[in-house]
Order: sequence, then C-alpha cells, then structure tokens
Amino acid sequence: MKAWVIVIASFKACGIALAAEHHAGAGAILFFAPDPWVFLQFFLPSAQGFGPAITSFETERREVWLTIDDGPDPSSTPRVLDLLRKHGARATFFVIGEQVARHPELARRIVAEGHTIGNHTHTHPAGGFWLASPSRIASEIDRCIGALLLADVPFERYFRPPVGIRNPFLDPQLESRGMSLVLWNARGLDGMGRDPESALGRIVRSIRPGGILLSHEAGSRPGGRLRFVELLLEHLGRDGYACVLPPRGALLTRARDDGPPAP
Ligand SMILES: [Zn+2]
Repeated sequence: MKAWVIVIASFKACGIALAAEHHAGAGAILFFAPDPWVFLQFFLPSAQGFGPAITSFETERREVWLTIDDGPDPSSTPRVLDLLRKHGARATFFVIGEQVARHPELARRIVAEGHTIGNHTHTHPAGGFWLASPSRIASEIDRCIGALLLADVPFERYFRPPVGIRNPFLDPQLESRGMSLVLWNARGLDGMGRDPESALGRIVRSIRPGGILLSHEAGSRPGGRLRFVELLLEHLGRDGYACVLPPRGALLTRARDDGPPAP
C-alpha cells in the first residue's frame, strides 16, 4: 500500500477518534487536514503523489516540447501540420482514439510529417475521468491503442488524461503497459475558451528551456485554438526557441532545476 494512503487513513482515524471523545472541532480539523493535498493530486500537473508525471525535460539548449491535444480532426489537423512545417517545428499530438478511428489518414499524416503520437484516451471523458475505475481507465487506454494499431499508426508509450486529471488507479495501469504520464509545465488555457492573444500572454510567462507546452486543436472552437498555435509558434521563433521531440532519457518528473532525470 502506498505511504500516502496510510498517512491519510491515519489522519481520518485520529479525527474520528477525537470527535468520538467530544473534541469535535479538533477532530474535524484532523479529519479534513489531508484533503487539500489529495485535491491537488487529482488536478495539479506538477503533483506526483499518485505516481510520476513528466512535466519537463533536460536540455542545455533553447528547446521546448510542443504538445497538441484532442485531434486528429479535419477542421484543424491539416492546418496545424502546415503551421508546424512553416516554422520547422516538431510536436507530439495526444490523440483521441475515436478521432483516429474516424480519420486514420490524418493520424498517419501526423507521423509521416515527422511528429509523434501519444494516447489521450479513446472517448476523452473529461468530466468523469477523476473517478474512473481501473477497468474504465484500462478500456480508455487500450481502445485508443487499438484504434492506432488498426490505423497502422506508430505511437509513443505516452499517456495524457483529459484535462490532465488523474486518480489513484491510473499509475498502475500505465506501469503495467510500460507507459509514461506526460503532462506539462506551461499552458495558456486555450482549451478552456480563453481568447488566443490572452492565452499567449499567459503561456509565455511559463516558457523555459526544457518546458513542455500544452496546446489544443479541434474542439468546439477550432479557430481560436488554431490561432493560439500560430501565435505560439511565432512567439517561440522570435524568442529563438526550437520545438523538438526530446529523447525519453531526458524526460523529467520534476522541475528541471530540482533534481535528476526521471528513470
Ligand atoms: Zn483533451
């Protein structure tokens, strides 16, 4: 059993024991004390409590890893690929299995143009993934893999959950498949409806060498998402950053200045 489960269970048990001894206030404080930490493990990209999450990579050069979620989609993928080619950029597309099944030719084109593909679940269950059971998580991962295999598309053993949300059941499923959780350390909230210019203003404050940048395509507002990718690529070019595909050995599960590379 993971150490954090024992620690939290101890807090809860002590809180109940105190409340039973007529120390209701102190009991409640103890009982709920771990909950903010637990909440962050579900939703904070840099949190590592539920298992390792890659959020940056080691580099001595002015390089970033651009990641693009939620495709492939005919309304956006061809245009994104054109933008990447224009800027000499490489990116990893975290694709949705259902979309790959609908548009296998686009998934193949992504790889043919020098980019890589990661797993972003089969149905993108953004609202309920935080409480997904082990079997639901396994199904989302494996059905996406199945769609990629059927489409004859090579892919990396990278996984990114919808909206980056995790739960305690995810890490064992990834570990058993030799997969790594890849999140980010820079985002503009373009996927949450923020207008492209203000999303750019937000993300540039977090961009550092070795950063993993989150962006999106497709969705209900593909035009805004595309414009964000375009503005981001222009900004990176002006700032002298190259968009690269880092080798697996360079990936880090903590801030790049904090410690050694991830295993
Ligand atoms: Zn997504």
